[in-house]
Amino acid sequence: MEPSTATIEPIVKHKAPKLFLILFFLIQATVLTVLTVPFTWELFWVAFVSYFVRMFGITGAYHRYFSHSSFKTSRVFQFVLAWIGSMAMQKGVLWWAAHHRNHHKYSDTDKDIHSPSKKGFWYSHMLWFLRNEYNDYEAKLIPDFYKYPELRWLDRNHWVAPLSYSIFLYAVGGWAWLVYGYAVATFLLGHATWTINSLSHVYGSVRYDSRDTSKNNFFLAILTLGEGWHNNHHYYCSSVNQGFYWYEVDITYYILRVLSWFGIVWDLKKPPVKVLEEGRRRDLAKKMGMEAIKPNLPKKNTTKSVALT
Ligand SMILES: [Zn+2]
Ligand SMILES: [Zn+2]
Repeated sequence: MEPSTATIEPIVKHKAPKLFLILFFLIQATVLTVLTVPFTWELFWVAFVSYFVRMFGITGAYHRYFSHSSFKTSRVFQFVLAWIGSMAMQKGVLWWAAHHRNHHKYSDTDKDIHSPSKKGFWYSHMLWFLRNEYNDYEAKLIPDFYKYPELRWLDRNHWVAPLSYSIFLYAVGGWAWLVYGYAVATFLLGHATWTINSLSHVYGSVRYDSRDTSKNNFFLAILTLGEGWHNNHHYYCSSVNQGFYWYEVDITYYILRVLSWFGIVWDLKKPPVKVLEEGRRRDLAKKMGMEAIKPNLPKKNTTKSVALT
């Protein structure tokens, strides 16, 4: 039976931090094994596909679906999304989404779990989630998905998907596929994902007054399949597309659009016309050299913009 939101545990212990830490540092170090395998274009594509699919698992699943509920899908495909995201080895889906919701609630205040302006680049990039105090999460932050037992199981056992994925790679392509498809791709995937917590709160342009340090950055958007439009996202985070205009490349959104044509996902939430018009007005004013955008002060307005769910 599914628990009601009133009966869920207040704090969920996210066990296996030691296993996670060992695997984490192992993957970081084993990227050097790339020196032991001669480069071939086949291996390049193995790494590329491994990066691409699992990046979508983070952006389309962990972020846009589980953290922000920006579209709907079936219970079966919901589990598939959670599994693909889990393969990225960035901890469990409920853990990830709960902490991310806190990031939006408190961004760039003292309560923000990974603010580069408050705690520095490396802390916001990757050191924060290695700390013991963040092994746990508050279930009340994510009652809409915590109620599913299969998600709670996958979240508790978040090592199952990456481990079985690495075994699959080894079985199919041996050591070379394991090195390129797992060690190299997971290393790059991790650091690319974390740039959204670090670099995209430092470098880029500001369109909206989101009351934090979030930026729009084309290069990070390419690297992360669309997540680099972070200022757009912080201003209106329930939108399924983070690139708000046709020229803001957002590959995650394109994939979700294609999935929606086949009825696999539906109810894709778009930004309201007034948000898009405000963006155009601000872009135009900026182009004409007018003072349209207030300084992006990291003071917090917790009533900011947008519903998280
Ligand atoms: Zn952010
Ligand atoms: Zn977000």
